[in-house]
Amino acid sequence: MTLVDTHSHIYLPEFDTDRGAMLERAENESVKRIYLPAIDSSTHELMLNLEKDYPGKCFPMMGLHPCSVKENFREELEIAKAHLARRAFIAIGEIGLDFYWDLTHTREQEQAFHEQVEWALAADLPIVIHSRNSIDECIQVVQHHQKGKLKGVFHCFSGNEGQARQIIDLGFYLGIGGVVTFKNSGLDIVMSGISLEHVILETDAPYLAPVPFRGKRNEPSYIKFVVEKLAEIKKISKEEVAEITTLHSEKLFGS
Ligand SMILES: [Zn+2]
Repeated sequence: MTLVDTHSHIYLPEFDTDRGAMLERAENESVKRIYLPAIDSSTHELMLNLEKDYPGKCFPMMGLHPCSVKENFREELEIAKAHLARRAFIAIGEIGLDFYWDLTHTREQEQAFHEQVEWALAADLPIVIHSRNSIDECIQVVQHHQKGKLKGVFHCFSGNEGQARQIIDLGFYLGIGGVVTFKNSGLDIVMSGISLEHVILETDAPYLAPVPFRGKRNEPSYIKFVVEKLAEIKKISKEEVAEITTLHSEKLFGS
């Protein structure tokens, strides 16, 4: 069995005391590859160092997280752009809109999102979208740019079935993680109507740990609880969940 954690911030200090052991636990749970979404220039270095320490296992993305879009966002975009000019990355991410934490820079968030989507189109890279309290707005941005070439994932999808269908119609994937195990999330019911052909797996570690570790630090090995839950919802084996989601993450990210 091969699993891919397509969204994991394991370069953050939350893992400084046990990073090696944590990655071993992931390996023991068949998590063979881990994709690292960028946040901003304060953590790019940590992310790139982790890639150096674990080549062939940890793969970085590049981009500016919507929660890091502030007054200096032009400068931050230039830094991300310089990284992209220098070397290859697996995706532009994470990018998008966050209307949950802070509404001060909504317009700047939109500008940064559009601009980074254009980078992805120019470089033929997938985008990894953060859409907290903004799924409909993010869908509109993708619709605006989708002329058949744009590809990507709505990371940590937790919307309704109508939103899931719109995303799928745009040729995008749903990134499913710990939320599907939460009681009353409703995501289990949404997922029962959605084919796994449109799903890739993620943890969003250190955030959003699945049941039975809800509220604790999340880590890539916990993806097994997401696999178990999806197997139960779809009434198929865990191996089948792994096979189809890994196939599609390879299709999207090209590795
Ligand atoms: Zn993230």
